[in-house]
Amino acid sequence: MTGDVVAWRRHLHAHPELGFGEHETAAFVAEKLRSFGLEVAEGIGGTGVVGTLRHGGGNRAIGLRADMDALLIAEATGLEYASRNPGRMHACGHDGHTAALLGAAQAMAADPGFEGTIHFIFQPAEEHGRGMQAMLADGLLQRFPMDEAYGIHNMPGMPVGAFATRPGPLMAAEDNFEIVVAGRGAHAARPHLAVDPILTGSAIVLALQQIVARRLDPVDPAVVSVTEFITDGTRNVIPNIVRIKGDCRSYRPDISAAIEREMRRIAEATALAHGATAEVIYTREFIPTVNHAAQTEAALAVAGGVFDSVDADCAPLMGSEDFAHLLAAVPGNFAFIGNGEACASLHNPAYDYADAALPGTIAYLVALARSRLG
Ligand SMILES: [Zn+2]
Ligand SMILES: [Zn+2]
Repeated sequence: MTGDVVAWRRHLHAHPELGFGEHETAAFVAEKLRSFGLEVAEGIGGTGVVGTLRHGGGNRAIGLRADMDALLIAEATGLEYASRNPGRMHACGHDGHTAALLGAAQAMAADPGFEGTIHFIFQPAEEHGRGMQAMLADGLLQRFPMDEAYGIHNMPGMPVGAFATRPGPLMAAEDNFEIVVAGRGAHAARPHLAVDPILTGSAIVLALQQIVARRLDPVDPAVVSVTEFITDGTRNVIPNIVRIKGDCRSYRPDISAAIEREMRRIAEATALAHGATAEVIYTREFIPTVNHAAQTEAALAVAGGVFDSVDADCAPLMGSEDFAHLLAAVPGNFAFIGNGEACASLHNPAYDYADAALPGTIAYLVALARSRLG
């Protein structure tokens, strides 16, 4: 059975698709779920798929969720099953998550051992934090009512056979920003005729560091990262405009609001001091992932019987996860499963999901469903 799952995983790995474009992936998932005898609904929130398995007389239902999307990264693994879609890559292991959830569906269809309903949820577009919202907006919880929901993510750096989660906040909120600094372009040799947006923008980048260092309480985790600095200049031309883009993480709405407020003040006032103007576009992409206590206790109890090591109170991460939207609507747990200590980091061109993690992941999902729908 695991042999099939490894083959599915490698097939998915070789055919990565970007968020909301997972047409072949969704068709593959739906075909497999039907072949196991599940009821299958497709096209939920775009390319989302739900397979439903009912057994016995119980009226409780749980959701188990995987994500299907890949990234805009050129794969550099050299594997024989490397991406055949140039510039696209399963560099976050969603191929492994999808294959493992299919493996769990296959195992439970063959040997249920539960009373009630399991919804196997395959969501699109996790990477940009839009897929779960799209499924929820498309009636996920009305069409497939569930009492609890569970999700996992593989984790490089943790050994295969290791499991980690924690009650309460596990992953952060993500905000994005773009600051458009408008100056006045000029000949590079006549800078006195310019209002230099590069100089202004550079001052803004430096000043933004004071938000975390000097504006927020040190006990409140937060990150402000500038990740892009784009100009319309050329080697001998001072540009008209600079676009500064970046990413902020935090755990509470009031911290996110404080970051935005300070960013606007710093950008606008620094630009003014340089004779330029700055416009800030600030958007909120992911909400924090917050685990529920009772479901986390249940997940830990099950994990203890499956994995070699279990960390019941791992450190929260500043990364973000779209499953947060389901956890905000339904009690549940999100957990990390080791993908190997030598594994390249997530979103790295050399990353690959560890097939050795599939049996443990499937065993966990199966045991969890049976334990919650006993
Ligand atoms: Zn990712
Ligand atoms: Zn991921």
